[in-house]
Amino acid sequence: MTTQAKSHLFYQSRNRRPVLDRARGIYMWDVEGRRYIDGSSGAMVCNIGHSNPRVLEAMRRQMEKSTFGYRLHFETEPAERLAARTAMLAPEGLEKVFFVSGGSEAVESAIKLARQYAVAIGQAQRSKVISREPSYHGCTLGALALTGYAPLVAPFEPMMRPMPKIPAPRAYLDGLDPDSEATGHHYADMLEARILAEGPETVLAFLVEPVGGASTGALVPPAGYMRRIREICDRYGVLLIHDEVMSGGGRTGRFFAGEHFGADPDILVVSKGFAAGYAPLGAMIAHDRIVEPVLDGGGFLHGFTYAGNPLACAAGLAVLEEIETEQLSGNAAVVGELLKSRLEELAARYPIIGDVRGKGLLLAFELVADRGTMAPLPPELKAYDRLVELAYENGLIIYSRRTRGGYSGDHFLVCPPMITTPAQVEEIVAVLTLTLD
Ligand code: PMP
Repeated sequence: MTTQAKSHLFYQSRNRRPVLDRARGIYMWDVEGRRYIDGSSGAMVCNIGHSNPRVLEAMRRQMEKSTFGYRLHFETEPAERLAARTAMLAPEGLEKVFFVSGGSEAVESAIKLARQYAVAIGQAQRSKVISREPSYHGCTLGALALTGYAPLVAPFEPMMRPMPKIPAPRAYLDGLDPDSEATGHHYADMLEARILAEGPETVLAFLVEPVGGASTGALVPPAGYMRRIREICDRYGVLLIHDEVMSGGGRTGRFFAGEHFGADPDILVVSKGFAAGYAPLGAMIAHDRIVEPVLDGGGFLHGFTYAGNPLACAAGLAVLEEIETEQLSGNAAVVGELLKSRLEELAARYPIIGDVRGKGLLLAFELVADRGTMAPLPPELKAYDRLVELAYENGLIIYSRRTRGGYSGDHFLVCPPMITTPAQVEEIVAVLTLTLD
């Protein structure tokens, strides 16, 4: 694999990757001319593919007008228009939009808004936010405290404020039927038990991904889970926050993944696919009922310098337009079905694949040592690293995460852009087959 001789840049480790040269549609090329299929849309970011002409043109036009206007000095038209459009897409009542530059910022904004709301309505003792294990909600210290993934959290303990967690509803590991409401209720009721154990008057919010992303590997909740969660939150006055940083933006077949389950949140956060990699952008979208008391009570004490950046918002608007005019969510649903059925065929062929799951083009498969017990592969096999590296060498980028047995490694997200064609699905599957062989 190509590496740079010496670099002053660093990320997680010393591992270096090939140097990116250009990208078009679902393909990317390194400086040596090698082509890769972007089988994970970056990190589920580049939902509409690379170098989209509509977005590039919109950004060019905006750049010629202005690239930055500080929010305390100016309103900008792209921010105003994108907020209006986003509110139209959001569940009823979620009409207030607060822009940020990424997912962790969006999550932290939601928690701070919820907290100020509790204070404004005279419930200042509510400060705990319950989330799930495993989960990923960001790497800043606040979002990390809500992340249920020991390898990322442990080095920073004690957290500034440790937060309670409940298990994610991984029915496939517990041998339960995901299509049965009894299963959904079984897992959702763990939230009620936790709220009672913590003391309901101290619980501020429950933070959940409607369809799981990296942490659970495209986990679709069991039947009835999200509705029951909504009922429990209502019963105890706990705010429900959907983290749609990864699942939002259309790739599950609906713009927001939560739309599949008939239960709306009080606050919703989105990023990644929102401006689809054309600009750093995220949003927190909140119910009027939550924002109004905060604004009445002296204002939301929060904000990032780049909030509502006109260039990022112009990109976001063009991305939404592209998704709507080209009906890309619909394509994600149809092409996602095809890709999922192909992954299931691979599972029938390779017993090492223990589970295939997901919705639309948010799909994953999980490797196991034994399908009967779903025991994870032993870490020393390094199957995780080998599969990712081999796929890479074969020209396919897939996104992997290890959530069982620490870093021992298990699931792989296959999430190409929403513009993927059926022929390109076959191309992806051919490389995966070669890699698994
Ligand atoms: N929430 C979820 C569900 C995510 O997948 C991520 C990023 N993987 C984040 C929050 C954090 O987003 P960012 O990396 O943009 O801060």
